Amino acid sequence: CAKIIDGKLVAKQIREEIAVEIAKMKDVIGVVPGLAVILVGSRKDSQTYVRNKKKACEAVGIKSYEVNLPEDSSEDEVLKHIATFNSDPSVHGILHMNDENILNAVSIEKDVDGFHPLNIGRLAMQGRDPFFVPCTPKGCMELLHRYGVEIKGKRAVVIGRSNIVGMPAALLLQKANATVSIVHSNTKKPEEITRQADIVIAAVGVANLVRGSWIKPGAAIIDVGINPVDDPESPRGYRLVGDVCYEEASKIAGLITPVPGGVGPMTIAMLLSNTLESAKRIHKFK
Ligand code: NAD
Repeated sequence: CAKIIDGKLVAKQIREEIAVEIAKMKDVIGVVPGLAVILVGSRKDSQTYVRNKKKACEAVGIKSYEVNLPEDSSEDEVLKHIATFNSDPSVHGILHMNDENILNAVSIEKDVDGFHPLNIGRLAMQGRDPFFVPCTPKGCMELLHRYGVEIKGKRAVVIGRSNIVGMPAALLLQKANATVSIVHSNTKKPEEITRQADIVIAAVGVANLVRGSWIKPGAAIIDVGINPVDDPESPRGYRLVGDVCYEEASKIAGLITPVPGGVGPMTIAMLLSNTLESAKRIHKFK
């Protein structure tokens, strides 16, 4: 039976480590990291997302900055706020929208989401490093490291190739010297390719796509998927499952992340980590 990778616990440890470092930073140079969010419109899920980030920031000592703009704001208006945060020395990270022009306007040194094309480009280049790595794939790698999974020389399969998870996850595994294959919606016989992998990162968005028969005995399985499925027994009427069929896979894999409680809590922890890293780099604090 596979060992469970406890993302909730690891994320808590990381948040505690970050809080200690921030307290030290404040003590020594009188600076705390700052994270700015620009929110356009009043969509409830966006507001919840920002509120949760703010709470997580406060808990470790990161100062949040927030600008709320009306739904019909012009691109120029948004760009003006980005420019202000770019030059504000108390802001070390800027969260932005995935709109191309806006993405390009954020200073790559404050792009804590790691989505700026130049940061992605650097991630893809040999011998170069991005200023930031996107939070969810960074969280996947951190789980592999903290659970002592060897990556160098291993076969890895990433299922899904989105800009925010699959593609950067594959680049990171390759940088860590794995031999990487990417399985996507046009891949023929994905099960045969996946069965060769010592490490699987699944980021598809299809409930229980990866069956037990797809998995090499002893493999490390990182399940990024978060998919609601009907569950009349749950008070909400649904429950969340991953892209990997946990019941089957956990009997064959060596290590596996549960959903929820695996990769999910790591994403926000990595955002806090990127923001601290940024402040340390900008203020040359070791
Ligand atoms: P996306 O829809 O942008 O990308 C999905 C990818 O899967 C695409 O590249 C597509 O080619 C591929 N794909 C689709 N069907 C496939 C199939 N049958 N076989 C193989 N590949 C297939 O999704 P995303 O943003 O990368 O998110 C993927 C999943 O991860 C979602 O369930 C999402 O909710 C979850 N997610 C979780 C976190 C987290 O913090 N844990 C963060 C981001 C996304």
